[in-house]
Amino acid sequence: MASFNHNLELATQHIQLKSLAKTYPGANGPVQALADIDLSVQRGEIFGIIGRSGAGKSSLIRTLNRLEQPSAGQVLIDGEDIAGYDARQLVGLRRRVGMIFQHFNLMSAKTVAQNVGLPLQVAGLDKARIAARVDELLQLVGLPDKRDAYPAQLSGGQKQRVGIARALAHQPQLLLCDEATSALDPESTQAILALLRDINRRLGLTIVLITHEMAVIREICHRVVVLERGRIVEQGEVWRVFGAPRHEVTRTLLGGLQQHLPADLQARLCQPGAGELVLGLHYSGEQGREPDLQAIAQALGRPVNLLHGGIERIQGRSLGRLLLGVGASADELPALLQRAAGVADRLEVFGHA
Ligand code: ADP
Repeated sequence: MASFNHNLELATQHIQLKSLAKTYPGANGPVQALADIDLSVQRGEIFGIIGRSGAGKSSLIRTLNRLEQPSAGQVLIDGEDIAGYDARQLVGLRRRVGMIFQHFNLMSAKTVAQNVGLPLQVAGLDKARIAARVDELLQLVGLPDKRDAYPAQLSGGQKQRVGIARALAHQPQLLLCDEATSALDPESTQAILALLRDINRRLGLTIVLITHEMAVIREICHRVVVLERGRIVEQGEVWRVFGAPRHEVTRTLLGGLQQHLPADLQARLCQPGAGELVLGLHYSGEQGREPDLQAIAQALGRPVNLLHGGIERIQGRSLGRLLLGVGASADELPALLQRAAGVADRLEVFGHA
């Protein structure tokens, strides 16, 4: 995916959360859903929120359009604190902030065109303008031929396209996505992510999303924040957080994406054969280094046996680890390790007999 330059001087802060807190009344006393949340989202950014169930993700995203009122702190959208908005200002806010949902929230008795046009009808636009805008939106989401279909006649992916079209009816600058692909099959998920990426680029739309699917974050987000018990435990560019997760919660969430070694290889790493050295070459993405096998073999001056490995590309950077078996005698070792250290961001060495 294209990189997003956070250092751009022109980049403006779209959302700023300052010391945000949210407490709900509970049967056994107040429940602190969010505490000490400080973060900002740049205009045009795709920003992901992850965390375990109950971590506060929904509460956080719902404060951005005042579906939840913060208990303390500020929610600044375009520099304005929305906490103090009156009813009229809230109507304006909700037009500037679209939202899509896991279960699409479409009206089953209305056609696709009627669903998409609903926000415009509520706003009092005349029929001709609604029809023209609906056509434009259906074109944008790739559903011009489903105008008169009912939700029950659509696939999950098509229903979410309708949800997106409806959310964009008022040309919002911010789109909130609440588990938008969680009810979809992998193919539809990819198509919806491609659509979100496309509208982010074409319309310059800021997107804030919550998901339990790490692949979604890796695929389309520029930055990610990790919540745990209502607090931020980690945040940063996706390649950094996913490449070197610092918090235990992040590591757990990423579990499925991390490498697992097959048992035979684990045994071999514990007891390498005579004259065999196993090197773990790590790529952190930090230096923009590429795992170039030819250059590695050349640097080591001998054939290398690729035993296991996984390299992911996130935001154009290579991240991961390669395990290489190389033959080496004890006296060659110091020079070999020095050369190996020069072709990776970090070197791991597994025994040498
Ligand atoms: P997540 O989206 O990460 O699963 P939520 O924001 O839904 O987390 O919930 C955070 C915490 O706040 C949880 O402990 C949840 O039980 C509690 N909570 C959420 N909504 C309410 C509510 N309306 N009333 C009381 N407690 C709530």
